[in-house]
Amino acid sequence: MNRFRLILISSLALASVLAAAQSSTTPDAVSELASSIHASAIVVDTHADTPQRFLDEGFDIGSTDPKDIGHISLDKARRGNLGAEFFSIWVDPETNRGHFAQHTFDLIDSVYEQAARHPDRMMMAFSVDDIERAHREHKLAALMGIEGGHSIENDIHLLRDYYRLGVRYMTLSWSNTNEWADSSGDQDDTKIRHHNGLTDFGKQVVLEMNRLGMMVDISHVSDKTFWDAIATTKAPVIASHSSARALVNAPRDMTDDMLRAVAKNGGVVDVNFFSGFLD
Ligand SMILES: [Zn+2]
Repeated sequence: MNRFRLILISSLALASVLAAAQSSTTPDAVSELASSIHASAIVVDTHADTPQRFLDEGFDIGSTDPKDIGHISLDKARRGNLGAEFFSIWVDPETNRGHFAQHTFDLIDSVYEQAARHPDRMMMAFSVDDIERAHREHKLAALMGIEGGHSIENDIHLLRDYYRLGVRYMTLSWSNTNEWADSSGDQDDTKIRHHNGLTDFGKQVVLEMNRLGMMVDISHVSDKTFWDAIATTKAPVIASHSSARALVNAPRDMTDDMLRAVAKNGGVVDVNFFSGFLD
């Protein structure tokens, strides 16, 4: 867990600054120092939604289509010095009602299939050692994080199966409150049954994730779920894609107290650079 944390410190913010510079009309916006830090780091991005494209659109990560609007391809990763990507395993809770686990497995499979298709440039990674090996071999390290605790269908056995398949983080909720964790996304919806944070089972899930070595991701959760997770966890937590509420007042963003609590917990917040959460 701690080794994971160390490598995650590689700055996503720098990656976005460089990406912005590449596409803007002011290429000198990035200082030489920033460029050299970025170029010398193993850059880890903790959240990409690309598996939906793999599965639903048949998107190939080896695509060289200049008109492709996606942020990720093997060429783009190479040009941006992206060392490792956590591919997000996100199951739409509306369209997959009744078969969350099946869709979770299908998305996991789609990541493996991309790695199998491009063995010279991409490899599945499950540990810091794997990320470092991928870096030495000039390959993109592909990791996986589940977005939304509903994927486990209230079954701790499924959580362990996902870990065995390589999933290394899980957000306790997505925008939907599930049966054991409140989300920031529907907290004002009176039709949803809320739990005032994490249920007892939700706390068990956190502790089992700790035991397995699956990072507890607090992006998307309600404030109370966040504080319950911080009080329960025995290991550092991450926010894989969250921004600061002091800058944009969105329930999805983190308050300064929450940011300080993650620092005290030894965790890491990776900034979500979606413009709606920044400005
Ligand atoms: Zn998200």
